Amino acid sequence: MFPNDLQTDYPEVAKFLTNAILKNRLANSYVLIGKNPNDILRISKTLAKILNCTDKGLSVHTLSKPCEECLNCKWIERDEHPQAFINVKADPESKKEQIKIDNIRELLNTLNITSDYFRIVFFQASSLQFLPSDSCNLLLKTVEETPERTIFIFGNQSRNDILGTILSRSQTIYINKKSESIFDALNVNASELTSYNFTEYFPKNVTESLEKSRNAYECIQKDEVDLNDFLINLAVKNYDRLKYEDQKQFCHLHYGITNAYAKLKSFMQPKIVVEDLFLNFLKK
Ligand SMILES: [Zn+2]
Repeated sequence: MFPNDLQTDYPEVAKFLTNAILKNRLANSYVLIGKNPNDILRISKTLAKILNCTDKGLSVHTLSKPCEECLNCKWIERDEHPQAFINVKADPESKKEQIKIDNIRELLNTLNITSDYFRIVFFQASSLQFLPSDSCNLLLKTVEETPERTIFIFGNQSRNDILGTILSRSQTIYINKKSESIFDALNVNASELTSYNFTEYFPKNVTESLEKSRNAYECIQKDEVDLNDFLINLAVKNYDRLKYEDQKQFCHLHYGITNAYAKLKSFMQPKIVVEDLFLNFLKK
């Protein structure tokens, strides 16, 4: 149901939301955490389009993408749909660029009127700075008992500065290109990964090895990347080429990854697993 590029970049998110739509199990409220606000916006708009597209072929029981041609799709895309996609922005009068309590009152009044549309109420940023606690608190009851066919989406870069009461009432989805964020930390440009010579990326000494493992671990924690996913990714991105180009390094990498995987399975602390992994990568 999602455009191809979103499916490629965020396969799990697309699959997760598609399943929820098909099974009629969309949550009342989602918190979308990710580094790229534009992608969060696109995913939210796509959801609004899927739920409101009037193209005959599209019903929520088929797996087609929104048509992008009907009025609803077009208006949502242009951010001009008054009901299907309510993009809650900061009061232009507010110097701090905050969503003030009056904006929320206005919003709640709008939501009280029943609508023919499936409404997505979208907050591009949801940090306390942007959505202060008095505004949040006024929202809470409505987030908890959303009007029919209404979904709240709170976007933000990190989970840490969103009010706990919002988090506890929402389902959190991470919108991070997983492989990208972790490889960034290792000083590898994700787009160059396919041509990247992995052998150069092995640490040269213990200090470098520990430094790389520290970077990787910090990144894994910060982006809440699953260590299992990280290991799979490492294998997928490098196995094929190394197998033909450099058998020795291939064995080296394979040994490191399988070893780390076994440790992970036996519940060893992730931090130690990562440290051992990079020590294993040391050139012999
Ligand atoms: Zn449409």
